Amino acid sequence: MNIVLLGAPGSGKGTQAKMLAEKYHFPHISTGDILRQAIRGNTPLGREAEGYIKAGDLVPDKVVLGIIEERLQEADCAEGALFDGFPRTIQQADGLESMLKKANRRLDLCLSLEVPDEHIVRRLSSRRICSVCGADYNMISNPPPADNRCVICGGEIVQRADDQETTIRNRLAVYRKQTSPLQEYYSGRGLLRIVDGDGSPSEIFAKLCRVIDDHSQKPAGN
Ligand code: AMP
Repeated sequence: MNIVLLGAPGSGKGTQAKMLAEKYHFPHISTGDILRQAIRGNTPLGREAEGYIKAGDLVPDKVVLGIIEERLQEADCAEGALFDGFPRTIQQADGLESMLKKANRRLDLCLSLEVPDEHIVRRLSSRRICSVCGADYNMISNPPPADNRCVICGGEIVQRADDQETTIRNRLAVYRKQTSPLQEYYSGRGLLRIVDGDGSPSEIFAKLCRVIDDHSQKPAGN
């Protein structure tokens, strides 16, 4: 299956994508993670993306589509993938559609996590990340250890530069303007499933699994 997970920054997409990828053995493709890793490695891609990410703006479509095109050629994506934080514009969605078509594949579902704005600002400002391996933490739901070192790799746990309040507001505005039209795009293709993103991670996970399981039990082509 190829699944797009849609949702505003802070809607819980990343957490849910990791849980879903583990359960269903989908490769988890997060363009945000790929870009942050490129920034940490100071690669040409990282240097190109850094300014956009710090400002909370979108990295140009051409750059992001190049990342996806390359990633989809890897062997683990042959059976499908879970896209997290991609597509973010209609151009990216069109690009994904034609890449999948070329490979004789198609998108199966777009799961859209809906969370009220006030919850999003609270979640994002409590979010933390390992500066070395990118593991997620949260001051409320998954606090870092007292020594502030990542339990996986020992790296320092920090706040993402784009989780500062002014950048959060810009990211939400960018989402409303450029990414939320994708709901209509996928609804028009019969692929959209809205999922209430309010609740504990395990409650939301159960709702997402139900939608995926329902879909995979349908006869092919539906
Ligand atoms: P995320 O981790 O998905 O919240 O992404 C963090 C930042 O990376 C975004 O605010 C954008 O600057 C950039 N980014 C991630 N994915 C995309 C994408 N599909 N298109 C453009 N920019 C992206």
